[in-house]
Amino acid sequence: NRRIVLASRPQAAPTAEHFRLEQHPVPEAGAGQMLLRAEWLSLDPYMRGRMSDAPSYAPSVGIGEVMTGGTVSRVVQSNLDGFKPGDLVMAYTGWQDYALSDGSLVTKLPADMAQPSHALGVLGMPGYTAYAGLLDIGQPQAGETVVVAAATGAVGSVVGQVAKLRGCRVVGIAGGAEKCEYAVKELGFDACIDHRAADFAKQLEQACPQGIDVYFENVGGAVFDAVLPLLNVHARVPLCGLIAQYNGGSADTSSSVLMRRLLTRRIHMQGFIIFDYYQKRPDLLAAFHKEVGAWLAEGKLRYREDVVDGLENAPQAFIGLLQGKNFGKLVIRIDQK
Ligand code: NDP
Repeated sequence: NRRIVLASRPQAAPTAEHFRLEQHPVPEAGAGQMLLRAEWLSLDPYMRGRMSDAPSYAPSVGIGEVMTGGTVSRVVQSNLDGFKPGDLVMAYTGWQDYALSDGSLVTKLPADMAQPSHALGVLGMPGYTAYAGLLDIGQPQAGETVVVAAATGAVGSVVGQVAKLRGCRVVGIAGGAEKCEYAVKELGFDACIDHRAADFAKQLEQACPQGIDVYFENVGGAVFDAVLPLLNVHARVPLCGLIAQYNGGSADTSSSVLMRRLLTRRIHMQGFIIFDYYQKRPDLLAAFHKEVGAWLAEGKLRYREDVVDGLENAPQAFIGLLQGKNFGKLVIRIDQK
């Protein structure tokens, strides 16, 4: 039973020395267990996070422990109801040939599935990531411009194609001419820009003459810097991944810290300008007047004013406002001459 374990924690890009191949006896399935033999192992960017012991949304792999990962596996022995030898399953058995499972997080696959590895990609976790992130958070509308980075990858390729099927203009971002050509010719994107090109930001701007309505973020770093000025009013940014930051480097700038926090804590951060709400939500405006008016009248809501007399004192009062000299809502009482 070959098993690849984490040998040490990389500080930057992982290298071969951070992994170790070990040989172990094939285990026997005990009561309530089954023995699985992996046929396909998924390798995904999130595994870089598991190699680190920095706090994250999921526990890290311990030194000497098997690297985590999703597999398509065959049941070899089973003492579990519902699973029998020969069954094909998707399971998180990690980077090893054989593993024992108690059935948790195991999904059965059709035994005659034509392309079992698809359960690790387009029909599995990455495909669902693309579909959910784009449609639920991105809310793409026909005619809008959708930009996706890592455009030919497991997630990005599905994002862009689903957006095309929804009638959007789709611009991919990928590394190198070959990937860009594939995105346009095979995946049907309207354009694809090479993020390694010297004039990448300019090319991206030219490919998005109407700006960007949905940016599906997989990368962060310099790619995000180029996207940021092009985002339209009310743009949506499903924040899925920041692969450019996973090996460190730019990881300590305030914007990269912000992006990582937003992602790992699933923070919903939404800019808003109140003027929109006057038109968009007359119901909310009416509720505001009614409820806050009543609270004020009943003394349930306290309100303090800082009253300055005389129009001529407005400039000084305003300057003070910016220095924190006001205490409460600053208003000028204009003398009625
Ligand atoms: P991919 O198949 O897209 O492979 C990774 C790609 O990332 C590379 O091929 C490369 O594409 C690109 N890349 C790597 N380093 C850089 C860099 N420094 N700058 C720009 N691009 C880079 O992987 P996945 O589709 O599996 O994952 C894509 C993203 O989605 C990742 O960030 C991943 O962490 C995230 N993800 C998030 C999930 C979630 O639940 N939030 C779930 C699944 C994935 P290229 O050569 O085109 O630049």
